Amino acid sequence: MLEALKERVYKANMLLPKYNLITFTWGNVSEIDPETGYFAIKPSGVEYDELKPEDMVIMDLDGNKIEGKYNPSSDTLTHIEIYKGMPDVRGIVHTHSPWATSWAQAGRGIPCYGTTHADYMYGEIPCVRNLTKEEIEEAYEKNTGVLIVEHFKDTEYMAMPAVLCKNHGTFTWGKDAHDAVHNAVVLEEVAKMAAQTEWLNKDVEPAPQELQDKHYYRKHGANAYYGQGK
Ligand SMILES: [Zn+2]
Repeated sequence: MLEALKERVYKANMLLPKYNLITFTWGNVSEIDPETGYFAIKPSGVEYDELKPEDMVIMDLDGNKIEGKYNPSSDTLTHIEIYKGMPDVRGIVHTHSPWATSWAQAGRGIPCYGTTHADYMYGEIPCVRNLTKEEIEEAYEKNTGVLIVEHFKDTEYMAMPAVLCKNHGTFTWGKDAHDAVHNAVVLEEVAKMAAQTEWLNKDVEPAPQELQDKHYYRKHGANAYYGQGK
């Protein structure tokens, strides 16, 4: 079932090693089918060079496995919370990509220092707090998702399609799995540049708001004019 979805999610997962966003199997991509409410996600712990489209696991939003011979990614419950709480999200990526995860380990959001960042992500990329001991012991993966959804409540979350989880790693999202991977690549590049920017100038300030606005809104929203038109 949902063969085209599984193929897309497989291909999106295979982009993670291609773009050097993951080491070993530390990452996963999913995409939801809005018709059925089912989503396809990478299986847990299968090596990327052995992965096949048919290995993708089909799940529902209650955490039931609908189809698949493997167990789903261990981060599946986080994906479920994000899909339930942020309904415009159609694809999700989790990685421990090293530059972005360095900011997460430092417990810092990534300020917008330039237009590369502003083109894709509006404002500072947030770093959400650690879960409490109780939250970790009760339901670690689910509560990670609950925390992300809570942070983005009442915000334009498609304008900030990335989050850092303190001492852990990254989640990005998009209008499908491929778009979410694209945002994961942007996040890693922006994280690298921001770190290098601070090394070169420890007193650096975020880019002027008018410049951030110009770059974000020329690519997004009702008056976008970047590219070849739609
Ligand atoms: Zn992780």
